[in-house]
Amino acid sequence: MCTVSELNPTARFLMGPGPSDVHPRVLKAMATPMIGHLDPQFIQIMDGLKDMLRRLFRTENDLTFAVSATGSAGMETCLVNLLEPDDEALVCVSGVFGNRMSDIVERCGAKLIRVDAPWGTPIDPGQVKQALETCSPKIVAIVHAETSTGVLQPLAEISKIVHKAGSLLLVDTVTSLGGTDVRVDDWGIDAVYSGTQKCISAPPGLSPVSFSPRAVQAMENRKTKPQSWYLDLSMVRNYWSGAKRAYHHTAPITMVYALYEALRLVFEEGLEARFARHQRTHELLRDGLEELGFEFIVAPEYRLPMLNAVKLPAGLDDVAARSRLLNEYNIEVGGGLGDFAGKVWRIGLMGCSCTENHVNMLLAALRKIMK
Ligand SMILES: *Cc1c(COP(=O)(O)O)cnc(C)c1O
Repeated sequence: MCTVSELNPTARFLMGPGPSDVHPRVLKAMATPMIGHLDPQFIQIMDGLKDMLRRLFRTENDLTFAVSATGSAGMETCLVNLLEPDDEALVCVSGVFGNRMSDIVERCGAKLIRVDAPWGTPIDPGQVKQALETCSPKIVAIVHAETSTGVLQPLAEISKIVHKAGSLLLVDTVTSLGGTDVRVDDWGIDAVYSGTQKCISAPPGLSPVSFSPRAVQAMENRKTKPQSWYLDLSMVRNYWSGAKRAYHHTAPITMVYALYEALRLVFEEGLEARFARHQRTHELLRDGLEELGFEFIVAPEYRLPMLNAVKLPAGLDDVAARSRLLNEYNIEVGGGLGDFAGKVWRIGLMGCSCTENHVNMLLAALRKIMK
């Protein structure tokens, strides 16, 4: 006899920093019958997935696939494969995820150099330029969309500076990919990772990654093995590409189905239309929130459309209001992290959670709560 109750969580509207709402077609894809991870039909599905990821990242990179774990594993994959003990790495930090990259760099035994910017502001290319005058790191790592602060980091100028210094550029696009333009080849990004549960609107569980030929060369020049067996690309890549697909680990088949269908939905909509929808919906939310007395913490030109970081109006209690949103209206929004805890909300408009209906529902609920 089973004494634990049936799995039956309340349906929610996911308007936090991820996961986002998942399209019914993606949920249906997850009920597709299981096949083997070396079945020729599964190999074909993997190839289709890689093609779609290349289109989404706007890259020709051969080494493009999805790591079998969430976004943080993509971060770790990039860092452990590119860094060897005693290598130098410069990490740009203006929020939680830059800090996480710094932590992994140190765990790699590499020498960490940090460039910091205050939370809520982007990294200034001049700071990176100045730092690179006194060191020559193997990689420079930066977050494109800082989910902890709502900042969109411009990359074109920093990319030029990084390459002039002879370093590789590593970029976190977990929150940006699928919601705003990410141009891996045009922006000279050498290593990039993302996640499935933000603007791609698949469940959490995979991390799309891509590596430029220069990054692949750097990995091939390693003298030591990466400290992670699971994430060692010299082995993983023989499962995802090449003529002879060799077993490395059992791919999470169901997650691959989910990402495959989610990406088909992305291309049915079209990238430009999808980015425009995120921008338009963000503007609708912005107008409504400002009317209610919320204030954006990021300057307009650096605001992320899919992650709205706003200061609470005086008198609105963070925890009480968020729990009313969740319990009475089934709407999840994110609280602030670090210095922003208790003062800031992070309202996500990611993928399937980015609709006019979501915005109207949230604003109507807030008007009632704040009355
Ligand atoms: C969510 C997120 C991550 C971590 O991804 P997980 O899927 O939670 O492991 C990394 N970087 C950014 C910018 C994120 O928003």
